[in-house]
Amino acid sequence: MDALPHKPQPRLFHAILVMVLLLCLAIGTLSVWRTLVQNETHRQQELLQQEVEGLARQMETRFDYQTDAIQRMARRWSDYRRHPPAWQRDADALLEDFDNIQAIEWLDASHCIRWIRPLQGNEPAVEFQYPDDHPNLPYLQIARESGQPVLSNQFELVQGGAGLAYQIPLYRDAGGNPQFDGYLIAIFRAEALLHSLLAELPTAHLSLTLEDRRGTLFQRLRADTHYSLPPAQARVHLGDSDNFTLYSYPNAATLHNSPIPTITLIGGLLASALLCHALWLALLATRRLEALQLTNRTLQSEIARRQQVEQVLQSSQSRLQLVLDMTDYSYDALFILNLDPFEIVYMNRTCWASLGYSAEQLRNLLGICPDDVVPGAQDWLETLREQSRKGESAIYQRHARTRTGKLVPLEISVRPMKRLGIDYLVCVGRNNHQQLEATAQLERLTQIDGLTGLFNRRSFDAALAAEWRRLQRQQLPLGMLMVDVDHFKLYNDTYGHLAGDDALRSVSRALQQHVGREGDRVCRYGGEEFAILLPGADIAQCRKVADLIHAEVRQMKIPHVVEPERRLSISIGIACALPGCEHPPESLVQAADQALYEAKKAGRNRSACAELVS
Ligand code: GH3
Ligand code: MG
Ligand code: MG
Repeated sequence: MDALPHKPQPRLFHAILVMVLLLCLAIGTLSVWRTLVQNETHRQQELLQQEVEGLARQMETRFDYQTDAIQRMARRWSDYRRHPPAWQRDADALLEDFDNIQAIEWLDASHCIRWIRPLQGNEPAVEFQYPDDHPNLPYLQIARESGQPVLSNQFELVQGGAGLAYQIPLYRDAGGNPQFDGYLIAIFRAEALLHSLLAELPTAHLSLTLEDRRGTLFQRLRADTHYSLPPAQARVHLGDSDNFTLYSYPNAATLHNSPIPTITLIGGLLASALLCHALWLALLATRRLEALQLTNRTLQSEIARRQQVEQVLQSSQSRLQLVLDMTDYSYDALFILNLDPFEIVYMNRTCWASLGYSAEQLRNLLGICPDDVVPGAQDWLETLREQSRKGESAIYQRHARTRTGKLVPLEISVRPMKRLGIDYLVCVGRNNHQQLEATAQLERLTQIDGLTGLFNRRSFDAALAAEWRRLQRQQLPLGMLMVDVDHFKLYNDTYGHLAGDDALRSVSRALQQHVGREGDRVCRYGGEEFAILLPGADIAQCRKVADLIHAEVRQMKIPHVVEPERRLSISIGIACALPGCEHPPESLVQAADQALYEAKKAGRNRSACAELVS
């Protein structure tokens, strides 16, 4: 048998297909989600950037507002030089207005702090001489050269802590020529400055860092800051210095997640799952449909096959019915028996119609009392069982009784048959009345002599043997007469053979006249000899019968040429015996024959006796 090509399991193939589709859709959804998240992050970073830049501008504005006030003081330096208390008053007023200023100082041209307000908290700075390596010296130089205020980077204050110095070059009026006179310096503590610049601005949601070239100036970070994302940054121009940069890293507050990517993600995944589920269901439905179609095709072929079988069955049934109808019109009675238990499986119409019953009546009768229908049925059934066991066929001669009580002879042929483990007997019965009659007639003819109508020699022999046995049992005598026509040859010669035949028929009638008891039998023994069996007759009775026969023949007066009576006569040998084992039946015949011989010898037309006693 050829190997079938390998077919992938449709269920597994479909599952893989759906899983691949689901994976692709999920990847697509994740990609869309990622893009949306990135776009959203980018948008929020832009917003943060805008916010930081706005914040930077606001800080610059605020700082400018302060520096404007400081610059105003600087412009009044000539007055202050002449009247230092005014300086003190304005400085104190300025400090009062801007509490983020640590100190207002006048640094003279030799870089020594001459004046300082307030004194409290700034004691270390009083008369502080800037060393040559003071980090602010370059800025002071820039301010002096440009004539413009300069904000330093952060540096270590002598008062302690980090600070920024807003430094304005001062000029004194010296005879109409402005003469450099040191610097007005506003010292800011970095943190206080930043706090004041950011005060009341909506910055609580921001993570902020302000850096100058020397490092971090101010830092306020939220715990939910995302350092992995690039910060928004903006240059902060404080006092015309572009050294400051404001950074703001995104945090949870600024990255207020839009639900759209998540909704898109969940929706996309759900839609993918639903789509795949729908596809799976569709594939399942397709597969079921295919299975259904296959089942349908199988069913249709099964229906077609059954229809064929049904047609064949109908045809077989028609044929069977035809056969049954034909058996019904058969002259023979056909019936099928199951003997264990007894059941008439089938019987044709002839069975019940020929007996004058309906089928049901006959079935009932056979079921209740089979002997009423078939005399000796019970014994016969036993015989049939034995036959069935041996598996042999047999022919029985039975009688069936019709509804009117008449006995009908039946020759029943019985043949065993085994089907599906059950033993059946197929029986065919035929009314053989005529055959029996013919046989009986034939039988009779074989026993009768054609000329005289008497029993023939063969019948005599059979009767002798039968009577011998019977009388032996009954201990009764058997008498026999052997009769011979006298000078019959001469009779034939004288009157012709046909006349001789007539004479023989006449003698036969004479013999029958006086032999009529049951069991008596007159036979033509051969030629012109006759034998008469007289069962139960003793010698005297035999002699009496012989005398009567002589008288009868004599009375017939059949002419003959023999003197002196010139009438046909007979001689009779009489024998009688009590049948026994010591003598065969033939001994009676021999004795009768011997007696006949004696009668002939004694002159004919007479009887002689020979009694055989056992
Ligand atoms: P006996 O008195 O001694 O008996 O003499 P018989 O002539 O009768 O005896 P035999 O045996 O010599 O002759 C018998 C004759 O019977 C001879 C034969 O032709 C004749 N016969 C035998 N059977 C028939 C028969 O069927 N028809 C006729 N017509 N004659 C027969
Ligand atoms: Mg003779
Ligand atoms: Mg004779």
